[in-house]
Amino acid sequence: MSESPLDLVIVGAGFSGLAMAIRARQAGFDRFLVLEKAAGIGGTWRENTYPGAACDVPSQLYSLSFAPKSDWTRLFAPQPEIKTYLEGLVAEHGLAPFLRLKTRVVRAVFDATAGLWRVETDGGTISARVLVGAMGALHHPALPRLPGLERFSGTAFHSAAWDHSCDLRGKRVGVIGTGASAVQFVPEIVGRAAHLTQFQRSAPWILPRGDRPTGHGLRRLMRVTPLRRLYRASLFWRREVAALLGFTRVSTVTALAEAGARRHLAASIADPALRRKLTPDYRLGCKRVLLSDEYYPALARPNVSLVTAPIREVLPHGLVTADGAEHPLDVLIFATGFSPGGSVLRTEVIGRGGVSLLQAWKDGADAFRGVSVAGFPNFFLLLGPNTGLGHNSVLLMVEAQVAHVLDALQRLRDHPGGMLEVRPEAQARFRGEVDARMRDSIWMRGGCGSWYLDRSGRNRTLWPGPVGDYVRGTERIRAEDYNLFDPQRPANTMQRPAEASDAD
Ligand SMILES: Cc1cc2nc3c(=O)[nH]c(=O)nc-3n(C[C@H](O)[C@H](O)[C@H](O)COP(=O)(O)OP(=O)(O)OC[C@H]3O[C@@H](n4cnc5c(N)ncnc54)[C@H](O)[C@@H]3O)c2cc1C
Repeated sequence: MSESPLDLVIVGAGFSGLAMAIRARQAGFDRFLVLEKAAGIGGTWRENTYPGAACDVPSQLYSLSFAPKSDWTRLFAPQPEIKTYLEGLVAEHGLAPFLRLKTRVVRAVFDATAGLWRVETDGGTISARVLVGAMGALHHPALPRLPGLERFSGTAFHSAAWDHSCDLRGKRVGVIGTGASAVQFVPEIVGRAAHLTQFQRSAPWILPRGDRPTGHGLRRLMRVTPLRRLYRASLFWRREVAALLGFTRVSTVTALAEAGARRHLAASIADPALRRKLTPDYRLGCKRVLLSDEYYPALARPNVSLVTAPIREVLPHGLVTADGAEHPLDVLIFATGFSPGGSVLRTEVIGRGGVSLLQAWKDGADAFRGVSVAGFPNFFLLLGPNTGLGHNSVLLMVEAQVAHVLDALQRLRDHPGGMLEVRPEAQARFRGEVDARMRDSIWMRGGCGSWYLDRSGRNRTLWPGPVGDYVRGTERIRAEDYNLFDPQRPANTMQRPAEASDAD
């Protein structure tokens, strides 16, 4: 481990951490490390290896704008291809020397006297001026608390930790959960299982996916930069406009989309009773809208049962539902998503005055533009609170956040020993903006409870406005939002960054 302080430590080598590393290198920083607890890079795309795993935003948009790839094999690339893309970025941008794999950050403490973050890992302590948390929002599998689960004698696993040694052929398989992962893997495994029981708490809205291989013609066109940009922009705007009209408030667009989704359901499910069970009882967009052409046909197969009664308990050989019915099972697969909040809540981050992030967030996760937190100088989050997207590529958000951090790094380079800290009033202003935009949104008015909402019913997960607004307001650090403390010029303590640069 490095002895002398680094300019930057990035925690996590998923899409966000790697994007940060590439941009830092391109801006001339070479005294930084990316710390990753796993043995490989890729985060989400290293872990989610379940059958059928793929992105649900077209790959030309779900990839980094500054690292384009013309030859995605499908409209929605499968997991191995996305992982290979990320590994390619490491090679192409010479990131290997900056990576420390199998290095878990357990605690990070801000040393205000030295103006440094002391980053404690399971392999020693590293000091750095700037700390970036790119630890993933959807990283820790959420398991439901089911009475008797420990008694289950079959094989049980979560979709994000797929047990590839478990042969599903001829088995009675139970799937708990009907989210984005389930709709991808159920069609893949249904043909192998003797019987598949899908346990559903609430029916998801599902729209057609239209996945297809990318033909040679399109791949050739994608090599032409202006055409690729145009295509990417068209993918972006289609999603952006639909979301703005349908999600930021309940509107006729919502009703039109619902009608389309009902037609999609009716086209695959002939049985009216099954169709009724699969019809959501809340407005489209309130929970994540799913894309699939295969999930409904999979459920219509004769070896599948859809169970909507709540699960009461787990027995050694199956499940019992609240209606008293027993469902014998050999394999239980949890498609129950992830604990909201992500890894940053599991890593002790201690800012100025010994206050931990958990203490600062006792009433809920809160960060200025999802990136910086008052009391935590020179600390930045990627994909922090309220920067998730239900409808578009989150990498657009990541890129804006990376630009924000880069701006901070460049300003700090001009102020040795300096500390940048978001003003509490800027953080409060951003929270107010989020809450105001959220008020009439589908997530609050759509008649559902979802993992987007915290215990108090506040949405701390999604950005509730146009992606363009977020990007424009985030890419640069603005004078009125941050304080800069420069120990070389203590008289100017708490001067604003723009004023500081003006003074140079
Ligand atoms: C199955 C699935 C499909 C998805 N599809 C899409 C999609 O189509 N479009 C979209 O926009 N988004 C999608 N997402 C969201 C996806 O998570 C993000 O797009 C993106 O991959 C997140 O990247 P990340 O680097 O922020 O986090 P992650 O990929 O989760 O990476 C975080 C990394 O940090 C490491 N880490 C965590 N804690 C520590 C620690 N204490 N010390 C060291 N290392 C640590 C982890 O091991 C991990 O490698 C999907 C998510 C899932 C689960």
